[in-house]
Formats: sequence, C-alpha cells, structure tokens
Amino acid sequence: MSIVDTTVPVGGPTLAQERRLVTAIPGPRSQELLARKAAAVADGVSYSIPVQTVAAGGGVLVDADGNSLIDLGSGIAVTTVGNAHPKVVAAVQEQVAQFTHTCFMVSPYESYVEVAEALNRVTPGDHAKKSALFNTGAEAVENAVKIARKYTGKQAVVAFDHAYHGRTNLTMALTAKSMPYKSGFGPFASEIYRAPMSYPFRDGLTGPEAGKRAISMIEKQVGADNLAAVIIEPIQGEGGFVVPADGFLPAIVEWCNANGVVFIADEVQSGFARTGTMFASEQFGIVPDLITTAKGIAGGMPLAAVTGRAEIMDATHGGGLGGTYGGNPVACAAAIAAIDAFENDGLVERAQEIGEILLARLTALQATDARIGDVRGRGAMVAAEFVKPGTTEPDAALTAAVAKACIAEGVIVLTCGTYGNVIRFLPPLSIGDELLAEGLDVVAAALAAN
Ligand SMILES: *Cc1c(COP(=O)(O)O)cnc(C)c1O
Repeated sequence: MSIVDTTVPVGGPTLAQERRLVTAIPGPRSQELLARKAAAVADGVSYSIPVQTVAAGGGVLVDADGNSLIDLGSGIAVTTVGNAHPKVVAAVQEQVAQFTHTCFMVSPYESYVEVAEALNRVTPGDHAKKSALFNTGAEAVENAVKIARKYTGKQAVVAFDHAYHGRTNLTMALTAKSMPYKSGFGPFASEIYRAPMSYPFRDGLTGPEAGKRAISMIEKQVGADNLAAVIIEPIQGEGGFVVPADGFLPAIVEWCNANGVVFIADEVQSGFARTGTMFASEQFGIVPDLITTAKGIAGGMPLAAVTGRAEIMDATHGGGLGGTYGGNPVACAAAIAAIDAFENDGLVERAQEIGEILLARLTALQATDARIGDVRGRGAMVAAEFVKPGTTEPDAALTAAVAKACIAEGVIVLTCGTYGNVIRFLPPLSIGDELLAEGLDVVAAALAAN
C-alpha cells in the first residue's frame, strides 16, 4: 500500500473553489473525530468549526466527509497568503530535507537572518531596526515587554480596554476580557494598567478626545516615570475589530515619544497585508518603536517576531532573548516565501479589493437591518457588530445564531468582541470574488432567517 493516502484531496489552490455540502455539518467522519477529541483532548482546548479538516487552499476548507466550506476566517488571520500556498509549500519541502533544527542560539543559519532583514525592511519607519524571532504571538508580546523594560529601566505597562495579547501569564494580564481568557487563571503579572480605548461606535469621541482621555488616565494613575511601554493593537482583533478614531493613535505615540515610553504596536493579527497596507500602523500614520508580529507571517507555520528601533532591541544582554525553537529554519523558510508573496504578488492590493467587496455588501445589509449597529474595518479585516435595534446594546445571541447558521451552510465565519456580538470577516487573500460573494450571500440569508 502506498504511504500516500490518495483519498485525501491535496490542499492549495488546486482544490475545487466551490461551496459543496454532501452531508450535514458535522458529517459522520467529522463526528467520529470530534468524539475522539472529546475523549483525548483537554476540554479547555475548544473549537468553533465542527469539522475534520483534510485539505484547504484558495478560499475553501475541505472536510473528511467531502464537504467544501468557504473560508472567511483564515484560521484566525494566519493563512493570509492562502492555505498550503505553493511558494510556502515548496520552501518548506526544500528546507525540511536540508535540516530541521539547530537552535539559532547554538549554530546560526541564513534563513533566520533573512527573515530579520525582511522584517526590518517591511515594517513601518526607515530608522535602523533589528528583529528577534519567536514561536507565537504571545511569546513575541512577552519579549517586547522584556525589551522595553530593559531599555527604559522602568516596569509599568499600559494596555487598553478590549485588548487581546495572548494566553501566557503576562499576556493574560495584558488581555482585557476575563471569560474565556483569564477566568480562574490568576494571579496575573503585576505592573499592568488598563487605559480606555477609542471605540467610536460606543464612546462617540473623536480621536484626539479619546487620546486625551487615555493619556490623562495614564498620567494620573501610572505616571510616565514608572511607565516602560504602552502596548496596543492598531486595529483590535479578538476585542471586536475595533478601529480607533483618526488621531487617537498619533496622540498616544506623540505622548510616548515625549515621555520616554516605548510604544509597542501589537500587529500579530493586523499585520502582513491584512488591512490593505503591509501593517495597520501605516493607515494611521504612526511609526511604532517596537512591533510584534506572528499569525500571517509564515503562511501557517509557527513563527513570531519583535522588530524595532535598533537601540531599543539592542538594550538586552546576550542570552537575554531567545528560546529553543524561536526562528525554526522550516518556519523561517515559510516566512521568506510568504513575505515574498506579500511583497510581489499584489496581496496588499488584493486585501484592498476584498475590503471594498466586504464593506459594500455589509453596509448594504446594515441599511436594511437595524440589528447591524456598526460595520467597520480596513482591507480584509472587516466586522459587523450586532445590537438590539436602535440601541448599542450588544446582541450576542443573534451573533451566535447567525454564525452557527453560516457554518451549517458551509461558510466559516468567526465571532469576536468583548460582548461576543461581532462577526469578523478575514478571508485568505487567495479567495476569489465569486466565492467571497457567495459566502456573503449565505451570511445575508442566515441573518434574514434569525
Ligand atoms: C492572536 C494574537 C496574539 C497571540 O498570538 P498566539 O500566537 O496565539 O500566542 C497576540 N496579539 C494579538 C493581537 C493576537 O491577535
């Protein structure tokens, strides 16, 4: 018997680009796996799409029962270049046959350096930059905070309402939402303070007004003398795809620059062409001191980075940063291929086109349905926030029902938001227009039926 299972479709753009339902979701094979999952995998590790994935690519995900689902989630903003992207697959195959690991801290290799060079080039600002590589977004955030503390000699860190920065101890402390991320997992890291975010739909403030409010809180409750860093997602991810009002981020950056505080942009979700620019920071005209990246960086391989001003990045003594697997050579090869695709295959422009399609369709829906309180986002990072008509009161039940109906009809949508009342649209940039339009038809039908 061949070791290649020919019954399993191969991923990447070769997959038929269609929505195809041959069983109910989940079908029998998926149900079988989910039963094994329930018996073998810790309950704390949950899932939102109840299927057994066997292949994915372009704009679809195929399950073990032969269903083909339209992917509007990209595995949470990871497969931005497309799942099993041919350039990424080729790079991984070549590298994995050469060597799989040395530990960069034991014996260095070129691909790590090449990823650092690429990140220093593509991140905002033309100042001298350096990078360090890690495995996960949370690890990148942890290290950005370490670096900022070492550089400033100060300890306090300010994060914002609705922030999400990860699930490790420090990043739980930085994350705003208790359930499910923090509840029962304390005590949390100390010297973390929370400032009010600019959330135009809910606070009605202009950017400068919201900036003033946040800075006042920081000055009164923390004090610049104690503050190492401010960390913020330029467009928030898990917190609800919250886009701050124009002028908010520049006000915070200006205050940080004037007060010896390191400004960290957490672009783990918003980075790499997702928002229609290489990084969301560019859309607000800000240049972060440090920027954390992960998710979209390597086409699905686990890799993360901190990139920033060389003098800040170099403040740490040798051996102070790193980790066994950080900048793994296979993940680095994937990142080089993915960054090449972002820079040279028109993906920034594609994100803008997808954004126009998403915004046009969702604002049209909003015009006829008062339950959609807000439609917002940039590029291929767009959300609809659901409320009780005529109010800003969140409607989490409607949101969950619409998402569930979409999934049952073969469209992968993800929810988010502090109040659980946001559906986020973040398709792979390899999705075709027709498939995207069909996915949005299904969303509209699900909304009409609920
Ligand atoms: C997902 C995410 C993280 C955490 O990344 P992991 O790789 O899951 O540790 C951190 N910050 C933001 C903005 C994220 O979206």
